[in-house]
Amino acid sequence: MWNTILESKRDDYARFLANRDTDIGAFLEIGTPAQWTVDSGDAEPSGTEAAVTTGAAPSLRLPIAVKDNIAVQNYRLTCGSRMLEELQCPYNARAIERLAAAGAEIVGKTNLDEFGMGSSSDNSALQTTNNPWDVTRVAGGSSGGSAAAVANRQVPVAIGSDTGGSVRQPAAFCGVYGLKPTYGTVSRYGLVAYASSLETVGVLADSVDNLAATYRAMRGVDSRDHSSVEIPAPALDAVDQDAKGTIGVLAGDLGLDPAVERNFRATVTALEELGYTTRPVTLSTLEYVVPAYYTIAAAEASANLARYNGVRYGYRPIFSENPEELMRKARTEAFGDEVKLRIILGTYVLRSGFQDQYYTRAQKIRTLIRRELDELFGTVDAIVLPTFPTQAFAHGDDGMDPFQQKVADRFTGTGNLAAVPALTVPTGTEGGLPVGMQLMGPVFSEERLFAVARRLATVMPIQFPERSVPFSDWETTHNA
Ligand code: GLN
Repeated sequence: MWNTILESKRDDYARFLANRDTDIGAFLEIGTPAQWTVDSGDAEPSGTEAAVTTGAAPSLRLPIAVKDNIAVQNYRLTCGSRMLEELQCPYNARAIERLAAAGAEIVGKTNLDEFGMGSSSDNSALQTTNNPWDVTRVAGGSSGGSAAAVANRQVPVAIGSDTGGSVRQPAAFCGVYGLKPTYGTVSRYGLVAYASSLETVGVLADSVDNLAATYRAMRGVDSRDHSSVEIPAPALDAVDQDAKGTIGVLAGDLGLDPAVERNFRATVTALEELGYTTRPVTLSTLEYVVPAYYTIAAAEASANLARYNGVRYGYRPIFSENPEELMRKARTEAFGDEVKLRIILGTYVLRSGFQDQYYTRAQKIRTLIRRELDELFGTVDAIVLPTFPTQAFAHGDDGMDPFQQKVADRFTGTGNLAAVPALTVPTGTEGGLPVGMQLMGPVFSEERLFAVARRLATVMPIQFPERSVPFSDWETTHNA
């Protein structure tokens, strides 16, 4: 179907994207069909490794939406910030070039929390995104626009970024699949930096197959990102679908909402019925995840965001007496409150004489978290755990306060601190809202996670909100 749309229904599909976005606000920019075809640079067509081993066709002929902190030529690159609101992007991220080489087209840019900082997308300075399951609720964040666009059936796949949960948490809130890959497997070239040692480009999708195909197209070492890594050859192959292993179930008092708790139990039962052996596991480092994550993320953010000084690009105040005032005004006027908070916090934890107390300590905790997970993955093949302790919350004051949102990052931040892959899968609905559980495995175990997710999908298939309309239905009513 998507192939036909890209071959012969481009104008109708562009109208569909805009028409279906009016009460959701997933997109900051919808491209005209001429913008969709992106230059692949010198990227090789994807799937070449996979094609050799599985015989699969290397093509990824899908319309894809991209979070607006990832560079796509001929679109803006706003990062959801006043600072970059007018920025026209002159180049393509490496991951985008690879998608283009595989045949994908980029149909638009999606809303996000400013620079990826948040869990609701309400920190976007440019737009509000509503959850397609209930428009009074948030889509999650920071890749909220990407998650909403997939849940609303506007696109089958959307690209996001995940620093502490920003692909997985909105995927759970909107009931779609969301992958944070192993750190370094997808090039960060062209991803606007927030916290470089934690973040990855990730995928949100309407099926495990679309998600896996997109990840395979994007992955691979890149000379322009020195933290990118060569994936060991065996990890490139699809895993035997029928192989069953042992899955650790995160135990202990996890502080979940009753609906999420119920769904977690149901997911574990489903895995057992599918033939997996489960056993309870604990993570003694779990309570240190959030302090370590926010210390490191804020420290890196304060350094990464120093480049927005009102001089080279981005927002520039109308008048200033001298360069210092120019810089101060640019940053005061164009950064939102959450971004300022993190820059101040990051500067605080890095100030001279205090590094040992905060930053270095957080790095040591990070090592312990990684070690504990390493040990755990010596005894189980993967673990299952919640993505977030609640379902999608309401916008504004009726929702979750910003501090609680940060505390709730404990299940996702683990994966970023340990650099391991984690996949959020839709596991049904409770009270009319979706829930998503997380599968986490050792580094390079993406294919294993896909295999578990595929099996789980046979008993817990993805569901779409009632308001969502597939293009084919929309086309029938609009061309009648
Ligand atoms: N909620 C986390 C934060 O605000 C996650 C962000 C992300 O992954 N980009 O930092």
